[in-house]
Amino acid sequence: MMRQYELVELVRSYDPGADEDCLNRAYVFSMQAHGGQKRANGDPYFSHPVEVAGILAGMKLDGDSIVTGLLHDTIEDTVATLDEIDRLFGPKIGRLVDGVTKLSRLELQSDHSQQAENFRKLFLAMSEDIRVLLVKLADRLHNMRTLAPVPSVEKRRHVARETMEIYAPLAERIGMQRLKDELEDLAFAELNPEAHGSIVARLDFLRAEGGDLVAGIEAELHGTLEKAGVSGEVSGREKRPYSIWRKMERKNVPFEQLGDVVAFRIVVDDVPACYQALGVVHGAYPMVPGHFKDYISTPKLNGYQSLHTVVYGPRQQRTEIQIRTGGMHDYAEFGVAAHWVYKQGDGSADPHEGRQYRWVRELLDILEHAAGPEEFLEHTKLEMFQDQVFCFTPRGDLIALPSGATSVDFAYAVHSQVGDTCVGTKINGRLQPLRTQLRNGDQVEIVTAKGHTPSPTWESFVVTGRARSRIRRYVRSQQREQYVGLGRSILEQTFVQHGFALDAATAEKAARALNVKGVDGLYAALGEGNVTALAALEAGHPEIKRRDAGGTVVPLARRRAKPDGYAVPIRGLIAGMAVHYADCCNPLPGERIVGIVTTGKGVTIHTIDCDLLQTFEETPERWVDVAWDAETLDRDVHVGRMSVIVANRPGALGAMTTVIAKHSGNISNLKITNRSSQFFEFMVDVEVRDVKHLTGIIAALRADPSVSAVERARD
Ligand code: MN
Repeated sequence: MMRQYELVELVRSYDPGADEDCLNRAYVFSMQAHGGQKRANGDPYFSHPVEVAGILAGMKLDGDSIVTGLLHDTIEDTVATLDEIDRLFGPKIGRLVDGVTKLSRLELQSDHSQQAENFRKLFLAMSEDIRVLLVKLADRLHNMRTLAPVPSVEKRRHVARETMEIYAPLAERIGMQRLKDELEDLAFAELNPEAHGSIVARLDFLRAEGGDLVAGIEAELHGTLEKAGVSGEVSGREKRPYSIWRKMERKNVPFEQLGDVVAFRIVVDDVPACYQALGVVHGAYPMVPGHFKDYISTPKLNGYQSLHTVVYGPRQQRTEIQIRTGGMHDYAEFGVAAHWVYKQGDGSADPHEGRQYRWVRELLDILEHAAGPEEFLEHTKLEMFQDQVFCFTPRGDLIALPSGATSVDFAYAVHSQVGDTCVGTKINGRLQPLRTQLRNGDQVEIVTAKGHTPSPTWESFVVTGRARSRIRRYVRSQQREQYVGLGRSILEQTFVQHGFALDAATAEKAARALNVKGVDGLYAALGEGNVTALAALEAGHPEIKRRDAGGTVVPLARRRAKPDGYAVPIRGLIAGMAVHYADCCNPLPGERIVGIVTTGKGVTIHTIDCDLLQTFEETPERWVDVAWDAETLDRDVHVGRMSVIVANRPGALGAMTTVIAKHSGNISNLKITNRSSQFFEFMVDVEVRDVKHLTGIIAALRADPSVSAVERARD
């Protein structure tokens, strides 16, 4: 295990500005927090965070990352809390440790193999700071290195599979080739020990038999380059067991026929030298067609750059050669980490300028330089995940949604039936409003009720097309039903008022004459206000048409119904669909009301004394007698508006709201319309059951000493 001073010295060797004191405190804190905990192999648990910090230091990461490595398991596995970390190490470190903790919790959620791609995206999306992901990867690397003593085979295989499917591809995506290789090989050894064992044995054998074969090829390549005036380092490197295995599988050939198990690398000073070296190699040895790749002019998505070629090289061996500069080489090994170290050294940016944002920016930079259709596709996917949020069902299934999505979107994503019947949601075990926006990693449980239907109000907050189209379809069908019902009532009323009974045959006749589709079509048109009731009456009974002297048809004047006459009940009509309450007079149950048919919008309800009604004096055919219906009263919220004047002194406003609350009124809106040194004048909207409820509140307010005047407001 690395000692405290060794770690600090290592970090200081490449980052002289690192906070030594903070590193020391983190080391001690972690040691004390983990106390007597032990790992599977009997080592003190504390050795794990120290090794993780060591891996991060090996990647030359900044001091904050190392501190995070030391503390990464303290919140999840010890009594330490995030508050404590914040207090002792500052909110910056707190955020990083919290980020790693969240990723660790995700691991526990479920078996991820079904949706590996989504999990990779989730991890990337949740690692708002790329250092969070790097610490998590180092954590996983050390866990893989120490996997063998874990007693449960099942657990080992699970961890190995997860490494193969989630972590190795993540490491690759951010360009950390060396980390990816090691993760893959460790996982491979666990998942397929026989294949791994035979490849390792075979490599050992070749190494023993070939003796100085690799050294010989290295020397010859080096000589060939030198003769041509190109200076560079040549090194041979055995391929990793897992990449050999993959190649055997892909090409379906046994190990013996694989040929090139050693790859050679030529590292030169600059880009022109890369192409020069390539020319020399191709000039000296025949090239194997179909293997040349230029990742310098077209870097890989993760930023990797190199020239790849295969030649029949020294001793007629098929020889794989990679040519790159020193910078490209470091980058190939350490990915974003190397990128950061390089940038840090050039002095162009203020080292204190939001380091964590720079990381992300640079990652995005790299992604932007992607080229080629495949990489472009990858890139687009990456852009997409930033706008996504990933949540779990109680069973652990992952649901990917656009960011801003709510529980209703989630419910519809699970199943349209679940969406249609959802009535509530538990997010991470707590009941929340359906409109609550979901966050990455949330566990969402949808509460459904049989026979429940979508609410039209959901449309204002859902973000997925699927949810929206289902809700719209439902609302449209509901609306049509409501228009049909409303239209029938309006027509019945008109017929009765003119001494007729409405029968199916007459309605049919009227529909035909007015050129609408069927009786229901006629009712819907009436309800929606596209056909007037008088026009329908005249179409059904053409004999009542009167003509003036010039022969022009004069429409029947509308007889106003007697006060106790036949009125259309607002039965089963949901406010906001076929019926709207006018906000000029805010009619309340218990008040006399009248409906005005508005073309394309159905009926708007006004109080009988509303000033606005004058506007409709000239169009009597738009008036409908309506009445409150008991059934609607329970369901709808009605808004009563008051103008209240209270004394401008402490507690007066509080007294006013207390009175309203005591009388079960819910204030939905409150606006100061006037203020002076002595008085406040408010416009107050309260949700009430009916007019009696509102009058009760007004009376109670008048009795309160801090209220000077209160009036029901109509504007
Ligand atoms: Mn750990």
